[in-house]
Amino acid sequence: MGQELSCARSSQEHEFFSAVRAGDLEAVESALRRDASLLHQATIYDRLSALHIAAANGRVEVLSMLLRRSVIPDVLNRSKQTPLMLAAMHGKIACVQRLLQAGANILMFDSLHGRTCLHYAAYYGHSDCLQAVLSAAQSTSVADSWGFARFVNIRDGHGATPLHLAVRQRRPNCVHMLLDNGALVCALTGGYGCPGSTPLHLAARGGCLDCVRELLAWGADRLQRDASGRIPYDVALKRNHGACAALLNPSSAEPLVWPSPLKFISELDRDAKALLEAALMEANREREKKILKGTAYSLPSPAHSADGIDDDISEASDTELCCICFDQVCTIEVQGCGHQMCAHCTLALCCHSKPNPATSSLPAPACPFCRSNIARLVVAKTRAEDDGDNGSSKQRRSRRSRNVGEGSSSFKGLSSAMGSFGKMGGRGSGRMADSKDVVDKP
Ligand SMILES: [Zn+2]
Ligand SMILES: [Zn+2]
Repeated sequence: MGQELSCARSSQEHEFFSAVRAGDLEAVESALRRDASLLHQATIYDRLSALHIAAANGRVEVLSMLLRRSVIPDVLNRSKQTPLMLAAMHGKIACVQRLLQAGANILMFDSLHGRTCLHYAAYYGHSDCLQAVLSAAQSTSVADSWGFARFVNIRDGHGATPLHLAVRQRRPNCVHMLLDNGALVCALTGGYGCPGSTPLHLAARGGCLDCVRELLAWGADRLQRDASGRIPYDVALKRNHGACAALLNPSSAEPLVWPSPLKFISELDRDAKALLEAALMEANREREKKILKGTAYSLPSPAHSADGIDDDISEASDTELCCICFDQVCTIEVQGCGHQMCAHCTLALCCHSKPNPATSSLPAPACPFCRSNIARLVVAKTRAEDDGDNGSSKQRRSRRSRNVGEGSSSFKGLSSAMGSFGKMGGRGSGRMADSKDVVDKP
């Protein structure tokens, strides 16, 4: 921002803006004591106010002082950008939070591309700022006047939603956060990029494998065509993004899709959600390995060492094996009846029916053991937590034997789901070995 500062009218102004940029609170205050009118000056060329400069440079003390001196938070520069937009652009989370506290308007549009602070956070990939703006949108009047869902899918001057920008810029964390907050996975762009592109087209164009994964797991349609009639697969091929193209190839196996239309899935608590999401990712990774096997592309090894962790768990709690797959540990419990299963089997149960984009509703699955309606899933209590209670292990054992007795007939419906689910994790307890051959049939 050096050149703007040199455009200051006087040396006094120049000194003032330099002090703001450097975060020198003392110098800023003494400059204001000498000339209080500096507070409302702006740089000549970009019309940046002191608040813009403080926000863009993450100078939260100076920013707070300016706000206390009743500088309005939504002052505009030449491009009609607010300080909040600049803070979100540069990832200055403390300034974003302070501006939101001061009542900064999240529904302002700049004059460059008609973008909001949400677009800026998504485009530049600052997921902490994105989260802060989304939280503000949920708690402020925006939610009442606009509706939160509409805000998440807000379009810029070219028809791009924050999700479009995040995938185009290869920001998988932001992509996940936006989808989790109700961003429409199939939204078409207006004029942005190639007209009529979906987020999946833009991810294919950017070659971001993690974004492609996220979008597919949220039900993005591989067969949707843009205005020039291309499916995302064509776009990835043209750009030479081979691994993306392999996953986008309509003839390769379909990924598991997060069952977001299910009410109890949208109401999961954090821990249960994390377990199910991890199971989904693991299942889809297995699928990817099969798709990419024999191609020139290999996947980067995952950051987490899932195998080591799983081994620990299965050794530690041998008696808590899931009664459906007899392979994994029970981690999820159906509230009410108390029946337990592993995260993989829970997910297979919920993903059994593919969501219909037209109705956006899924038939809710029943508990595979007692056929009661599932109203809520929680994390299963582990043995360690039960240690204080002497009767509990006995109780659990009796419940388990009841599970097997009652449930056997209900397993039939689930076994077909397990077939499409694949042999999760690849750990072989021969029980599910038969399903191996039916997996990945196109
Ligand atoms: Zn299981
Ligand atoms: Zn049950």
